[in-house]
Amino acid sequence: MRTDYCGALNASFIDREVTLCGWVDRRRDHGGVIFLDLRDRDGIVQVVFDPDSANFALADKVRSEYVLKVKGRVRARSEATVNPKMATGEVEVYGLELEILNTAETPPFQLDSHVAVGEDVRLKYRYIDLRRQEMQHNLRFRSKVTTAIRNYLDGQGFLDIETPILTRATPEGARDYLVPSRTHDGKFFALPQSPQLFKQLLMVSGFDRYYQVAKCFRDEDLRADRQPEFTQIDIETSFMNEAQIMGIAEGMVKDLFKHLMDVDLGEFPHMTWQEAQDRYGSDKPDLRIPLELVEIKDLLKDIEFKVFAGPANDPKCRVTALKVPGGAEISRKQIDDYTKFVGIYGAKGLAWIKVNEIEKGVEGLQSPIIKFLGDDVTMKVMERLDAKNGDIVFFGADTIKVVSEALGALRCKLGADLNLYTRKWAPLWVVDFPMFEETDEGVAALHHPFTAPSCSPEELEANPATALSRAYDMVLNGTELGGGSVRIHNQSMQQTVFKILGISAEEQREKFGFLLDALKFGAPPHGGLAFGLDRLIMLMTDSSSIRDVIAFPKTQTAACVMTDAPGAVDNKQLRELHIRLREKETKEAK
Ligand code: ASP
Repeated sequence: MRTDYCGALNASFIDREVTLCGWVDRRRDHGGVIFLDLRDRDGIVQVVFDPDSANFALADKVRSEYVLKVKGRVRARSEATVNPKMATGEVEVYGLELEILNTAETPPFQLDSHVAVGEDVRLKYRYIDLRRQEMQHNLRFRSKVTTAIRNYLDGQGFLDIETPILTRATPEGARDYLVPSRTHDGKFFALPQSPQLFKQLLMVSGFDRYYQVAKCFRDEDLRADRQPEFTQIDIETSFMNEAQIMGIAEGMVKDLFKHLMDVDLGEFPHMTWQEAQDRYGSDKPDLRIPLELVEIKDLLKDIEFKVFAGPANDPKCRVTALKVPGGAEISRKQIDDYTKFVGIYGAKGLAWIKVNEIEKGVEGLQSPIIKFLGDDVTMKVMERLDAKNGDIVFFGADTIKVVSEALGALRCKLGADLNLYTRKWAPLWVVDFPMFEETDEGVAALHHPFTAPSCSPEELEANPATALSRAYDMVLNGTELGGGSVRIHNQSMQQTVFKILGISAEEQREKFGFLLDALKFGAPPHGGLAFGLDRLIMLMTDSSSIRDVIAFPKTQTAACVMTDAPGAVDNKQLRELHIRLREKETKEAK
């Protein structure tokens, strides 16, 4: 229908006749001349109909979001009317013919005032919301990223292989989405939390290098940057060690940034998990922020003040200081807010010292806690931190988990609030993760149970709590972009890990028999990783929500307000699936 896209027009088109198709972004009537801003996926151009035009009456009827076909002649705008804010602002199209392809009711929100209506309305009318320039840009950019990734991996000899969506549970630490089987009474499929086991089996089959742009499903408590279904760039290789796998993955991300954003990310530093926890209180440290946690446990062991002395003498605790250069200007009100903030992570308070005139010793400091620490200890802490006038020091004294999480998060919040960033992009690899972690339910795999340990099965069984794994995470600006590991490729090692996780021999057979069998039949050494595509795009487009880079995302409560999913099903369908709802729900089902 069209000859050109609206957004493509510029001075080189002057005097050409074009046919455009698109939506009416805005219609203005200036003293009998009608201006239509016509929009398509490439941009917007101004179309003019004056009273001499044969289609003037029709143009007068046009309203926002009508779909038009316009034939017209491109002409230069007069100097006074050139619009430098518009990509097509040097030209306009003088309308010769007009066809209304479809009308539109008044939309629930104007595209340029989407902020006012709230996200629920935007999501309910997502097809309209997606017409906005920002959303058009994000989804086009996303398409460019997946294309570049495919090209890169294809160039490295990777094969794109699909794996099933209706499958058995793959443990990645979340709840499963279940699908009842009609043909197998009382049985359920699980949607994949990741293609993990299938990609490992593809290595057993000899495919050597696999990738997939894979949908994953995890039923977990939703946070701002999570979606119940999301997309991974999933990768697996055989006969490669962790350095080689990380090399390919790093090359891929560098390539993306270079070609799509002209950003050189440089070489990614490696940091052990332990160092990341100690210095940044996080396994995904934001290295754009120059603040670090400093251990002061040894200095506080002998003081009377229980709040510090207790944790200082407990091996499960840490006592840590966080110095913020220039932070003495932070007000009491802000400190109160930060105290509430660390409370979210379980911290019972937030002690602080402001450094006014360090040359005067404790006299030059300001804080409610100096009297509890004692002058000597206070000054020793200041010395260790190399505190300078104008600094503020925050303290955390609690279990390792609470202090790391609370001060780690505070560090990031201070970085954002005070704009302490030293650079735009800070990538790194975090390596040497522990194999296991203690949870309320017992021992759990930190990555997933198929991750190879760095030690022998005997050493692993003897000291599971201190064993390290061959896992690695790629982190960018404090966000985990992707993670993976070298896998277990030997049956007895896999059984040892299952045993440590408290999975009985019967349960191992029942849930993972196919994997244990495959490991017997010539499984090669293999490993891989997966990137969260949505998060990657979110960072690259500088979007504030993951929902802004997904065409049809779910809400925070894991629902789709546009299609009204999840929805009730009728009793006939339920019967076929061998499902009877409990009474309350039965009444709701139609
Ligand atoms: N399957 C893992 C995940 O989803 C990634 C990997 O180990 O390759 O996190």
